[in-house]
Amino acid sequence: MGEFELIERYFKRPSRQAAVGIGDDCAIWTPRPGYQLAFSADMLVEGRHFLPTVNPQLLGHKALAVNLSDLAACGATPRAFLLSLSLPRADEAWLSGFSQGLLALADAQACELIGGDTTQGPLNIAITVMGETPLGQAILRRTAQAGDDVYVSGHLGDARLALEVFRGNLNVPQAVFEVARARMEKPTPRTALGASLRGIASAMADVSDGLLGDLGHILKASGVGAQLSLQQLSGLMLTRDDWDCPRECGLRWVLSGGDDYELVFTASPNAQHAVEAAALSTGTRVTRIGRVTEDPHLLLVDDNGDVVPHDFRSFDHFA
Ligand code: ADP
Ligand code: MG
Repeated sequence: MGEFELIERYFKRPSRQAAVGIGDDCAIWTPRPGYQLAFSADMLVEGRHFLPTVNPQLLGHKALAVNLSDLAACGATPRAFLLSLSLPRADEAWLSGFSQGLLALADAQACELIGGDTTQGPLNIAITVMGETPLGQAILRRTAQAGDDVYVSGHLGDARLALEVFRGNLNVPQAVFEVARARMEKPTPRTALGASLRGIASAMADVSDGLLGDLGHILKASGVGAQLSLQQLSGLMLTRDDWDCPRECGLRWVLSGGDDYELVFTASPNAQHAVEAAALSTGTRVTRIGRVTEDPHLLLVDDNGDVVPHDFRSFDHFA
């Protein structure tokens, strides 16, 4: 199977919203008046972001999901994406699984594959997504204000739990592992929640490298700090009540585990009801975990309001 047959067979679909999709030198997109386009790119490298044994269908899902998570973080509605693939060989079983997982999520999110690049080489998946927001309504990192509440969507820490089991560092009951593994291998991008927080959240980011680091980006960009409640954080792991998770581990993974693809955002206390309504209407769990402070530090406080020292760090590829 040649390169063009491969593209035709596994990736080409009739274009829907694109003026021109796959097949010409460029895809052509007509922007809607009154909207801005949001772009983001994320690359998945074998051995770095996924294990060589991963199911290709799940990998296809995840490759797009991590990109959609960035659109969600800006409150952008997904529209289209480009796929750049480097493959060691044209393995039909792999391509079929990968494209199914990828395109199923693309269809579910109405995000159309409009082009890309295909080359032979080490397995590497690079996706560029494009979304849209009404003019001036993208939710950025730099606009959090002292006094805002801090919220996080969904659950945190479970993907890291699965990774530790895969690495052989931990044993947990099989049912717990399955739940955690689904969180790691099949993350749900929070695009509906992200878009419904336009005009409500004051700042937002997605949690990909770990809560402390990703919230840290918002705080730094906004010139503020935050106090997070240990009590609220300790309830964020999905699997927490299903096994005897060492408290220290659970908290470490919630704060710095990574691979969660949830949203962390800030909103004025006046917007609390609007936040709750957005959570309800999109069927997404949202938890208030703390408050933005003028003091530019990120502190953890216990039930008594006392500061708890910690040494948790988020993931950094070059640290
Ligand atoms: P060029 O040679 O101009 O770089 P290609 O021959 O690589 O273009 O690609 C031909 C068409 O197929 C283009 O429309 C391109 O966007 C599309 N394409 C290539 N690889 C992929 C892929 N992995 N997924 C989707 N579309 C792709
Ligand atoms: Mg060309």
